[in-house]
Amino acid sequence: MLTRVNDGWVTVGALLLGALVWLALVRRYDRLHPQATGRLVGALVLGGGLALALATLGNEAFAALLGLKAGAIGARTGQTVVFALFAGLNEELCKALGAALAVRLFLRLDEPVDAMLAALTVALGFAVGENALYAQQYGREVLLVRFLWPVPAHLAYAAVWGYGLARARFGPPGAPGSGWRTFATSLVGAGLLHATANLVLLLGPNAAALVGLSALVGLLWLAHQHLLRLVAASPYLEPGECPECRNLNPDDSPVCVYCGTTLRDPDFVRSCPSCAFPRVPIRATACPRCHAPLPHTA
Ligand SMILES: [Zn+2]
Ligand SMILES: [Zn+2]
Repeated sequence: MLTRVNDGWVTVGALLLGALVWLALVRRYDRLHPQATGRLVGALVLGGGLALALATLGNEAFAALLGLKAGAIGARTGQTVVFALFAGLNEELCKALGAALAVRLFLRLDEPVDAMLAALTVALGFAVGENALYAQQYGREVLLVRFLWPVPAHLAYAAVWGYGLARARFGPPGAPGSGWRTFATSLVGAGLLHATANLVLLLGPNAAALVGLSALVGLLWLAHQHLLRLVAASPYLEPGECPECRNLNPDDSPVCVYCGTTLRDPDFVRSCPSCAFPRVPIRATACPRCHAPLPHTA
Protein backbone atom coordinates (compact mmCIF):
# COMPACT_ATOMS: atom_id res chain seq x y z
CA MET A 1 0.00 0.00 0.00
CA LEU A 2 2.74 2.44 1.01
CA THR A 3 4.74 1.64 -2.14
CA ARG A 4 1.73 2.34 -4.33
CA VAL A 5 1.24 5.77 -2.75
CA ASN A 6 4.95 6.58 -3.16
CA ASP A 7 4.79 5.40 -6.77
CA GLY A 8 2.01 7.89 -7.45
CA TRP A 9 4.04 10.75 -6.01
CA VAL A 10 7.10 9.82 -8.08
CA THR A 11 4.92 10.02 -11.22
CA VAL A 12 3.48 13.39 -10.18
CA GLY A 13 7.02 14.64 -9.48
CA ALA A 14 8.24 13.48 -12.89
CA LEU A 15 5.28 15.22 -14.59
CA LEU A 16 5.91 18.46 -12.68
CA LEU A 17 9.64 18.37 -13.43
CA GLY A 18 9.05 17.88 -17.16
CA ALA A 19 6.44 20.63 -17.23
CA LEU A 20 8.72 23.05 -15.37
CA VAL A 21 11.71 22.44 -17.66
CA TRP A 22 9.63 23.12 -20.81
CA LEU A 23 7.86 26.09 -19.23
CA ALA A 24 11.22 27.62 -18.32
CA LEU A 25 12.43 27.15 -21.93
CA VAL A 26 9.24 28.73 -23.36
CA ARG A 27 9.35 31.55 -20.85
CA ARG A 28 12.86 32.51 -21.88
CA TYR A 29 11.28 34.23 -24.90
CA ASP A 30 9.08 36.39 -22.65
CA ARG A 31 11.78 38.07 -20.58
CA LEU A 32 11.35 41.64 -21.89
CA HIS A 33 7.95 42.21 -20.31
CA PRO A 34 7.14 38.89 -18.59
CA GLN A 35 3.69 37.59 -17.75
CA ALA A 36 3.27 36.84 -14.02
CA THR A 37 4.11 33.23 -13.13
CA GLY A 38 0.68 32.66 -11.57
CA ARG A 39 -1.02 33.76 -14.79
CA LEU A 40 1.15 31.43 -16.89
CA VAL A 41 0.38 28.51 -14.59
CA GLY A 42 -3.34 29.35 -14.78
CA ALA A 43 -3.15 29.39 -18.57
CA LEU A 44 -1.25 26.10 -18.58
CA VAL A 45 -3.63 24.28 -16.23
CA LEU A 46 -7.02 25.66 -17.29
CA GLY A 47 -6.29 26.39 -20.97
CA GLY A 48 -4.40 23.10 -21.43
CA GLY A 49 -6.98 21.19 -19.37
CA LEU A 50 -9.93 22.51 -21.37
CA ALA A 51 -8.12 21.76 -24.63
CA LEU A 52 -7.30 18.20 -23.59
CA ALA A 53 -10.83 17.50 -22.31
CA LEU A 54 -12.45 18.79 -25.51
CA ALA A 55 -9.96 17.00 -27.76
CA THR A 56 -10.38 13.69 -25.90
CA LEU A 57 -14.17 13.89 -26.17
CA GLY A 58 -13.91 14.71 -29.89
CA ASN A 59 -11.40 11.93 -30.59
CA GLU A 60 -13.44 9.34 -28.70
CA ALA A 61 -16.67 10.34 -30.40
CA PHE A 62 -14.99 10.16 -33.82
CA ALA A 63 -13.38 6.78 -33.05
CA ALA A 64 -16.79 5.44 -32.00
CA LEU A 65 -18.29 6.82 -35.20
CA LEU A 66 -15.66 4.94 -37.24
CA GLY A 67 -16.22 1.81 -35.15
CA LEU A 68 -12.55 1.80 -34.01
CA LYS A 69 -11.69 -0.34 -30.99
CA ALA A 70 -9.41 1.31 -28.40
CA GLY A 71 -6.61 -1.23 -29.04
CA ALA A 72 -6.73 -0.88 -32.84
CA ILE A 73 -5.46 2.73 -33.07
CA GLY A 74 -1.90 1.59 -33.90
CA ALA A 75 -2.91 -0.75 -36.74
CA ARG A 76 -2.79 0.47 -40.33
CA THR A 77 -6.26 0.39 -41.81
CA GLY A 78 -8.38 2.87 -43.73
CA GLN A 79 -10.14 3.85 -40.53
CA THR A 80 -6.97 4.49 -38.55
CA VAL A 81 -5.66 6.73 -41.35
CA VAL A 82 -8.89 8.77 -41.27
CA PHE A 83 -8.73 8.86 -37.49
CA ALA A 84 -5.08 10.03 -37.48
CA LEU A 85 -6.04 12.91 -39.81
CA PHE A 86 -9.05 13.88 -37.71
CA ALA A 87 -7.11 13.75 -34.41
CA GLY A 88 -4.42 16.15 -35.70
CA LEU A 89 -6.91 18.77 -36.84
CA ASN A 90 -9.15 18.29 -33.80
CA GLU A 91 -6.33 18.62 -31.27
CA GLU A 92 -4.97 21.85 -32.78
CA LEU A 93 -8.48 23.36 -32.90
CA CYS A 94 -9.07 22.43 -29.25
CA LYS A 95 -5.69 23.88 -28.24
CA ALA A 96 -6.66 27.14 -29.94
CA LEU A 97 -9.94 27.18 -27.98
CA GLY A 98 -7.94 26.59 -24.78
CA ALA A 99 -5.67 29.51 -25.73
CA ALA A 100 -8.72 31.74 -26.23
CA LEU A 101 -9.81 30.89 -22.68
CA ALA A 102 -6.27 31.45 -21.35
CA VAL A 103 -6.07 34.89 -22.99
CA ARG A 104 -9.50 35.81 -21.65
CA LEU A 105 -8.76 34.75 -18.08
CA PHE A 106 -5.02 35.05 -17.53
CA LEU A 107 -2.71 36.39 -20.20
CA ARG A 108 -2.27 39.92 -21.52
CA LEU A 109 -1.26 40.17 -25.17
CA ASP A 110 0.74 43.39 -24.94
CA GLU A 111 3.68 42.51 -27.19
CA PRO A 112 3.77 40.27 -30.29
CA VAL A 113 5.57 37.35 -28.65
CA ASP A 114 2.74 37.03 -26.07
CA ALA A 115 0.51 35.50 -28.76
CA MET A 116 2.98 32.66 -29.34
CA LEU A 117 3.53 32.37 -25.59
CA ALA A 118 -0.22 31.79 -25.09
CA ALA A 119 -0.23 29.07 -27.77
CA LEU A 120 2.88 27.35 -26.36
CA THR A 121 1.71 27.48 -22.73
CA VAL A 122 -1.65 25.90 -23.55
CA ALA A 123 0.03 23.29 -25.78
CA LEU A 124 2.37 22.43 -22.89
CA GLY A 125 -0.57 22.03 -20.51
CA PHE A 126 -2.27 19.80 -23.09
CA ALA A 127 0.85 17.65 -23.59
CA VAL A 128 1.57 17.28 -19.87
CA GLY A 129 -2.04 16.22 -19.27
CA GLU A 130 -1.73 13.70 -22.10
CA ASN A 131 1.49 12.41 -20.50
CA ALA A 132 -0.35 11.92 -17.21
CA LEU A 133 -2.95 9.78 -19.03
CA TYR A 134 -0.20 7.72 -20.71
CA ALA A 135 1.65 7.25 -17.39
CA GLN A 136 -1.55 6.03 -15.81
CA GLN A 137 -2.11 3.55 -18.62
CA TYR A 138 1.44 2.34 -19.43
CA GLY A 139 3.46 3.23 -16.32
CA ARG A 140 5.75 6.20 -15.72
CA GLU A 141 8.59 4.62 -17.75
CA VAL A 142 7.01 6.22 -20.85
CA LEU A 143 7.43 9.74 -19.44
CA LEU A 144 11.05 10.38 -20.41
CA VAL A 145 10.46 9.58 -24.08
CA ARG A 146 7.15 11.49 -24.05
CA PHE A 147 8.76 14.65 -22.65
CA LEU A 148 11.46 14.42 -25.35
CA TRP A 149 9.20 13.78 -28.35
CA PRO A 150 5.42 14.31 -28.15
CA VAL A 151 5.76 17.34 -25.85
CA PRO A 152 8.06 19.35 -28.16
CA ALA A 153 5.95 18.16 -31.11
CA HIS A 154 2.81 19.63 -29.48
CA LEU A 155 4.75 22.87 -28.91
CA ALA A 156 5.97 22.92 -32.52
CA TYR A 157 2.44 22.57 -33.99
CA ALA A 158 1.08 25.23 -31.63
CA ALA A 159 3.95 27.53 -32.65
CA VAL A 160 2.55 27.54 -36.19
CA TRP A 161 -0.86 28.95 -35.21
CA GLY A 162 0.69 30.96 -32.37
CA TYR A 163 2.68 32.87 -34.97
CA GLY A 164 -0.51 33.18 -37.06
CA LEU A 165 -2.22 34.70 -34.01
CA ALA A 166 0.69 37.14 -33.55
CA ARG A 167 0.40 38.21 -37.20
CA ALA A 168 -3.39 38.50 -36.96
CA ARG A 169 -3.14 40.68 -33.87
CA PHE A 170 0.10 42.64 -34.31
CA GLY A 171 0.99 42.27 -38.00
CA PRO A 172 0.26 44.49 -40.95
CA PRO A 173 -3.40 45.54 -40.91
CA GLY A 174 -5.04 44.36 -44.13
CA ALA A 175 -8.61 44.35 -45.37
CA PRO A 176 -11.30 43.86 -42.66
CA GLY A 177 -11.36 40.23 -41.55
CA SER A 178 -7.94 39.42 -43.01
CA GLY A 179 -6.56 38.97 -39.49
CA TRP A 180 -8.96 36.13 -38.82
CA ARG A 181 -8.19 34.57 -42.20
CA THR A 182 -4.46 34.71 -41.37
CA PHE A 183 -5.11 32.97 -38.05
CA ALA A 184 -7.51 30.39 -39.49
CA THR A 185 -5.02 29.51 -42.26
CA SER A 186 -2.24 28.98 -39.73
CA LEU A 187 -4.55 26.83 -37.60
CA VAL A 188 -5.46 24.57 -40.53
CA GLY A 189 -1.75 24.40 -41.45
CA ALA A 190 -0.83 23.34 -37.91
CA GLY A 191 -3.63 20.76 -37.89
CA LEU A 192 -2.42 19.28 -41.18
CA LEU A 193 1.16 19.11 -39.87
CA HIS A 194 -0.07 17.35 -36.75
CA ALA A 195 -2.20 14.99 -38.87
CA THR A 196 0.80 14.22 -41.11
CA ALA A 197 2.90 13.39 -38.05
CA ASN A 198 0.13 11.04 -36.85
CA LEU A 199 0.18 9.32 -40.27
CA VAL A 200 3.97 8.96 -40.18
CA LEU A 201 3.60 7.15 -36.83
CA LEU A 202 1.45 4.56 -38.61
CA LEU A 203 4.42 3.72 -40.89
CA GLY A 204 6.06 1.79 -38.06
CA PRO A 205 8.56 2.73 -35.35
CA ASN A 206 11.77 2.98 -37.41
CA ALA A 207 10.43 5.06 -40.29
CA ALA A 208 8.49 7.21 -37.84
CA ALA A 209 11.59 7.85 -35.74
CA LEU A 210 13.66 8.88 -38.75
CA VAL A 211 11.12 11.09 -40.53
CA GLY A 212 9.38 12.36 -37.41
CA LEU A 213 12.44 13.37 -35.44
CA SER A 214 14.13 15.20 -38.30
CA ALA A 215 10.88 17.04 -39.12
CA LEU A 216 10.48 17.91 -35.44
CA VAL A 217 13.98 19.37 -35.20
CA GLY A 218 13.26 21.49 -38.28
CA LEU A 219 9.93 22.69 -36.89
CA LEU A 220 11.45 23.61 -33.53
CA TRP A 221 14.21 25.56 -35.25
CA LEU A 222 11.56 27.47 -37.27
CA ALA A 223 9.55 28.15 -34.10
CA HIS A 224 12.70 29.50 -32.43
CA GLN A 225 13.38 31.85 -35.38
CA HIS A 226 9.80 33.14 -35.36
CA LEU A 227 9.86 33.68 -31.59
CA LEU A 228 13.02 35.76 -31.98
CA ARG A 229 11.36 37.87 -34.70
CA LEU A 230 8.41 38.58 -32.42
CA VAL A 231 10.60 39.35 -29.39
CA ALA A 232 12.53 41.84 -31.52
CA ALA A 233 9.24 43.62 -32.31
CA SER A 234 8.49 44.28 -28.63
CA PRO A 235 7.69 47.92 -27.81
CA TYR A 236 9.42 47.35 -24.46
CA LEU A 237 12.89 47.44 -26.06
CA GLU A 238 15.02 50.58 -26.27
CA PRO A 239 15.71 51.81 -29.83
CA GLY A 240 18.53 49.65 -31.16
CA GLU A 241 18.49 47.32 -28.13
CA CYS A 242 19.13 43.69 -29.07
CA PRO A 243 16.55 41.36 -27.47
CA GLU A 244 19.08 38.50 -27.36
CA CYS A 245 22.35 40.00 -26.09
CA ARG A 246 20.78 43.29 -24.84
CA ASN A 247 23.59 45.39 -26.38
CA LEU A 248 22.70 48.79 -27.83
CA ASN A 249 23.08 49.20 -31.59
CA PRO A 250 22.73 52.33 -33.73
CA ASP A 251 18.99 53.19 -33.89
CA ASP A 252 18.66 52.37 -37.58
CA SER A 253 20.60 49.08 -37.49
CA PRO A 254 18.47 46.28 -39.01
CA VAL A 255 20.52 43.51 -37.31
CA CYS A 256 22.50 43.39 -34.06
CA VAL A 257 26.17 44.18 -34.76
CA TYR A 258 27.15 42.04 -31.75
CA CYS A 259 25.21 38.79 -32.34
CA GLY A 260 23.41 39.10 -35.69
CA THR A 261 19.85 38.96 -34.32
CA THR A 262 17.27 40.71 -36.56
CA LEU A 263 16.27 43.92 -34.79
CA ARG A 264 13.37 45.18 -36.86
CA ASP A 265 10.77 43.09 -38.64
CA PRO A 266 8.91 45.29 -41.14
CA ASP A 267 5.81 43.10 -40.69
CA PHE A 268 5.48 44.21 -37.07
CA VAL A 269 7.26 47.57 -36.64
CA ARG A 270 8.01 50.71 -38.64
CA SER A 271 10.03 53.86 -38.03
CA CYS A 272 8.42 57.10 -36.89
CA PRO A 273 8.69 59.69 -39.69
CA SER A 274 8.94 62.50 -37.12
CA CYS A 275 11.48 61.30 -34.55
CA ALA A 276 12.87 58.19 -36.31
CA PHE A 277 12.04 55.91 -33.32
CA PRO A 278 12.61 52.55 -35.04
CA ARG A 279 10.14 50.29 -33.21
CA VAL A 280 6.67 51.77 -33.59
CA PRO A 281 4.11 48.92 -33.54
CA ILE A 282 2.78 48.69 -37.09
CA ARG A 283 -0.83 49.19 -35.93
CA ALA A 284 -0.11 52.16 -33.62
CA THR A 285 -1.90 55.37 -34.60
CA ALA A 286 0.63 57.58 -32.77
CA CYS A 287 4.36 57.29 -32.10
CA PRO A 288 4.91 55.97 -28.53
CA ARG A 289 7.94 58.28 -28.16
CA CYS A 290 7.04 61.65 -29.74
CA HIS A 291 3.25 61.11 -29.93
CA ALA A 292 3.12 62.34 -33.53
CA PRO A 293 0.03 60.91 -35.26
CA LEU A 294 0.92 58.25 -37.83
CA PRO A 295 -0.71 57.56 -41.17
CA HIS A 296 -2.50 54.22 -41.46
CA THR A 297 -0.67 51.55 -43.38
CA ALA A 298 -2.60 49.86 -46.16
ZN1 LIG B 1 22.67 41.06 -30.11
ZN1 LIG C 1 8.09 59.63 -33.14
